[in-house]
Amino acid sequence: SDSEDHVLKVILLGEHGVGKSSLARIFGGIEDSHEAEEAGNTYDRSIIVDGEEACLLVFDIWEQDDSHWLHNQCMKMGDAYIIVYSVTDKASFEKASELRIQLRRERQTEDIPIILVGNKSDLVRSREVSIEEGRACAVVFDCKFIETSAALHHNVKDLFEGIVRQIRLRKDSK
Ligand code: GDP
Ligand code: MG
Repeated sequence: SDSEDHVLKVILLGEHGVGKSSLARIFGGIEDSHEAEEAGNTYDRSIIVDGEEACLLVFDIWEQDDSHWLHNQCMKMGDAYIIVYSVTDKASFEKASELRIQLRRERQTEDIPIILVGNKSDLVRSREVSIEEGRACAVVFDCKFIETSAALHHNVKDLFEGIVRQIRLRKDSK
């Protein structure tokens, strides 16, 4: 249907503990700690970006189970991807690169929007990945980059608006 056509499916990827669910919950406007216990969730919300409404369906389901099926599904179904690592966890940064490579392999012929997100920027003293390393990685992997703090709600709005802009840019150039 027409309405389904402009719902943008956004998939969160990244290692356990990097802040995927925290970012998704902020997007969904849910701060309730009871719901926060759930392993996977989908958030449906409209936002205004540059004066135009966008309907986003954000999937926080990557860790719902460990099956190949789910992970394949995730790689196939997104209109856009948010690959999250924690700036306090080098291994999660390396995992983010792996995920980017996997995604490129899976969606070779498509130019899907991807934003690499370095979350937990508030944890200054336990930082293991610099902002320069994050930026450089995004250049290599040809995607956008932003650092966020879900704890401080810093840059979270910009992240989701950025995703919408990336999707629109590609649609307009077709
Ligand atoms: P997920 O496993 O990727 O879904 O990560 P969660 O959203 O469950 O977050 C894992 C832990 O990191 C939780 O204890 C969060 O409260 C914490 N966390 C998430 N984002 C941030 C952040 O930006 N700053 C800080 N200090 N902690 C965060
Ligand atoms: Mg989670």
